[in-house]
Amino acid sequence: MASQPLHNDAALDAAIGFALPARHARGRLVRLGPVLDTILSAHSYPAPIARLLAEALALTALLGAMLKDAGGQLTMQAQTEAGIVDLLVCDYKAGELRGYVRFDAERLAEGAALPSLFALFGKGYLAITFDQVVPGADKAERYQGIVPLEGESLADAVQHFFEQSEQIPSLVRVAIDADGHVAGGLLLQHLPEGEEGRERLHTRLDHPEWDHVRILGETVRPAELVDPALGLEDLLWRLFHEEEEVRLLGATPLARGCRCDPAHVRSVLARFAPEERAEMVDADGFINVDCEFCSKVFPVSVAELGV
Ligand SMILES: [Zn+2]
Repeated sequence: MASQPLHNDAALDAAIGFALPARHARGRLVRLGPVLDTILSAHSYPAPIARLLAEALALTALLGAMLKDAGGQLTMQAQTEAGIVDLLVCDYKAGELRGYVRFDAERLAEGAALPSLFALFGKGYLAITFDQVVPGADKAERYQGIVPLEGESLADAVQHFFEQSEQIPSLVRVAIDADGHVAGGLLLQHLPEGEEGRERLHTRLDHPEWDHVRILGETVRPAELVDPALGLEDLLWRLFHEEEEVRLLGATPLARGCRCDPAHVRSVLARFAPEERAEMVDADGFINVDCEFCSKVFPVSVAELGV
């Protein structure tokens, strides 16, 4: 038994990290509620696209909560050449999430009401990018992994990413409630050499201690992942209370955030060469900047840039 019962906690718009030291495993649990509604309300996506984005956002929160650098960024991008969805982008920075999907509405309407991942993407790829300052380095480091979009869901594809591209035995589960207002996820990983380093290239995939943790993780029900009345720490306790030690690694509140505020847009435009700006400006002296995350256009007056 773990030595201390975990106390009750936030159940929505949060991520928690945990470790099972005796099993050399670590994990994350996330649940999104109002944040999901806020992100989706910027778009008017049909249900299958809204659910796809909800799943992607829960995964992005799970992966983002793994960043060691509090100012780091995690970007998840799925794309195809001939799918109904041609681009899905989500990112995480300092607890802030955002995302959007570009898709063909006509082709979506012609297809099944609950299209499979393959029906949405066809042959596609998932790219996961970590931008962070790692301990011991003085500047930001970018690490990107790309895997084919295979399996039943994006969660499957992320699990393949860790297992194939990273050689880390992993379990990834995501659930969305029936109304699409709550998304929850669990990520479990086996790290026999500890938390650090990409040197563990020869990890064995048949550790009995990992099998034990994975089997416990697989008992999580979709209804538990999305139950707003069940705190994340309570869910953690429910899954692993028979373990010798469950170490809580902290909670991260999650919010909806975008970096397209007018001051930021002006500062980016001010750095362009004058001839480049001249090509963007319309007859009225404005440059129209799109933010696809917010579904907004920002008209910026060139005269106000002061350049
Ligand atoms: Zn924006």
